[in-house]
Amino acid sequence: MKIGILGGGQLARMLALAGYPLGLDFIILDPDANAGAAPLGEHLQGAYDDEELLAQLAGKADIVTYEFENVPAQVAAYLGAHTKVYPPANALAIAQDRLLEKNFFRQLDIGTAPYAQINSLADLEQAMPQIGYPAILKTRRLGYDGKGQALIQTPDELPAAWAAMQNAPAIIEGFVEFQREVSIIAARRPSGDICYYPLSENRHRGGILRIAECRGQDPLQPLAESYVKQLLEALDYVGVVALEMFDLNSRLLANEFAPRVHNSGHWSIEGAETSQFENHLRAILDLPLGSTQPRGLAAMVNFIGNPPQPEHVLALNDAHLHLYAKAARKGRKVAHATVRSDNPETYRAVLQKLTDLAAGLDDS
Ligand code: AMP
Repeated sequence: MKIGILGGGQLARMLALAGYPLGLDFIILDPDANAGAAPLGEHLQGAYDDEELLAQLAGKADIVTYEFENVPAQVAAYLGAHTKVYPPANALAIAQDRLLEKNFFRQLDIGTAPYAQINSLADLEQAMPQIGYPAILKTRRLGYDGKGQALIQTPDELPAAWAAMQNAPAIIEGFVEFQREVSIIAARRPSGDICYYPLSENRHRGGILRIAECRGQDPLQPLAESYVKQLLEALDYVGVVALEMFDLNSRLLANEFAPRVHNSGHWSIEGAETSQFENHLRAILDLPLGSTQPRGLAAMVNFIGNPPQPEHVLALNDAHLHLYAKAARKGRKVAHATVRSDNPETYRAVLQKLTDLAAGLDDS
């Protein structure tokens, strides 16, 4: 069985690593000659909308999936017409556009920050009395890791914030003074079976995820599961999804969802009975989903900009290193490390050491 993946970065790499024990082969489309996942499968090197390469991908792969959500609609449509593609195109279309995404949450009765559609400075000036300060202006499309966003603290900052959008359609969101950020990862099979991972508690800086901790017994787990279940069923979804939320006084406000495996679930490689990568493959192949039971305490630390010296992570008991085979570049996720332990003291000590190590290498 051959799985096609659009995108050949670390997510594709970890999908392939999870797929080999299941006897799967991989074919990857990515424009970068040095794509991190390229050594793990056949590499089609070229643009994502290159019809000849898409035809090859659709011809050779039994099922196509992707590692990023900004797949051009015509590419998803082309692939969908020629082969099985999971997750479904409607999930991509919604997740690509922050306005459609927020409207979708609202339609499902899932809370969000107050928001409004913005197409001009006049729209922004008109919306602010309802939204309130501070607020964040975000481009509707193609934003990630805090890119395409402007924080607005006072009315005199409105023109500069709108100018920063460069006339791109945008939305304004009220700034949520959350206690914490959490995400839930879940997987659904075509038959309708769903599995849920324990919540991840996520710490961001500068809009980039730094640390994700598995929360084995979180009181908000049932609420998060009910939200993600609604989302999966409304989309007739197949594969892994990640729903990112703000915890505001034990209310969960949805920020966004990612129709793919997600950085906040990387701890599951060592920290859960079945990783999110394996469960994504099981789901798209309509195989039984694996247990998401946590294996003790687990967390993940991202390395941004520069990878660590392997020995600095490997010398720590209960720590695991994942290098992405990517060139060092400012602000780029180049590796992560996980800690998995049954002992709370060891867990905390190793997590602190990994956090310090990552902070020392972080150039963002
Ligand atoms: P996003 O690109 O929407 O994932 O935003 C990146 C990060 O910016 C989030 O993980 C939050 O830390 C922060 N952020 C985004 N939107 C809001 C908001 N409405 N209120 C507070 N923080 C936010």
